[in-house]
Amino acid sequence: MSDCFFHRIIFPGQSPLILGDDLVGEMLQYATERMPYESGGLIIGQRAEDGTQNASRFVALESAFLSETRYTARASLAVSAVFAAEQRGEQLIATVHSHPRGDGLPSMQDVQEAFGYTNFRHVIIHFTHGLAHPRYFSYQNSHNGFSYLEGRKDL
Ligand SMILES: [Zn+2]
Repeated sequence: MSDCFFHRIIFPGQSPLILGDDLVGEMLQYATERMPYESGGLIIGQRAEDGTQNASRFVALESAFLSETRYTARASLAVSAVFAAEQRGEQLIATVHSHPRGDGLPSMQDVQEAFGYTNFRHVIIHFTHGLAHPRYFSYQNSHNGFSYLEGRKDL
């Protein structure tokens, strides 16, 4: 168990992402339960005036297919989740997916499929000795189309 209530994730030159312990626990547990398959969802929340992204909920989204190496949220579920969030005055602030194997760095496909939506953050859940850990990224537009910044936990 973590000894803090909130996680503040700092991205160099960009606005921070703030997540509650319970939300982080929920997405890690979800990804663990879906092993060995990739899974994921969205983080919904609010963007403050100063750009800070405050996460308020994790919405798990069933994958369009079962795979140990790919996750693609069912498009209809993703659209409904974003629409429901907007109805409540909230926004999509991050995507979440797991990497059952490997170190949790974004694949080239991960960055390319974000289609340059640089407003969002991206969480990748990876596993060490069966324990799930989150890594936080911001994807950048670049000449080769493959570039990311990793966020670091501040408190
Ligand atoms: Zn991935």
